[in-house]
Amino acid sequence: MAESKTGAVKFAADRMLGRLAKWLRIIGQDVAYGNHLAGYGLIRAARQEGRLILTRDRGIRKKSPPDYLFIESTLFREQLKQVIDACGLDPLANAFTRCVECNHPLEAVPKDSVESRVPSYVFSTQESFSICRCCQRLYWPATHLEKMLEELKGLLDRPRGN
Ligand SMILES: [Zn+2]
Repeated sequence: MAESKTGAVKFAADRMLGRLAKWLRIIGQDVAYGNHLAGYGLIRAARQEGRLILTRDRGIRKKSPPDYLFIESTLFREQLKQVIDACGLDPLANAFTRCVECNHPLEAVPKDSVESRVPSYVFSTQESFSICRCCQRLYWPATHLEKMLEELKGLLDRPRGN
């Protein structure tokens, strides 16, 4: 984990880690994820793009992989905490800056430009909107996600024992 403190680490998540991949994208991390990313497909993609592999495949070390992080838990909050700790990530610094579906960085758009594309209650209660130019999906800071981030922050602030 030599380059772990730079904050520039990119990930390739094993296809069994979909929920973790999604949450890493929510906190702004660059995560390759898809059905092709398992076994040697995962290793090949990680090597080509210089990504750190996230996997629960205990057999991976036999496949001479590049750098990888073995994910200990089956619970996504624990998985997320493990990655954040291991890589020195700040989970709140870049939250909501990346498309959860396609991993593309989001671009802020003026509120006026989205009126016809979002439900009226969203338009009247939200001030900031951003768009993924890849899939055209619109994002705004939904309340339940903010609550999740608060919960995550609490988890991280807790003393880690020993
Ligand atoms: Zn997208």
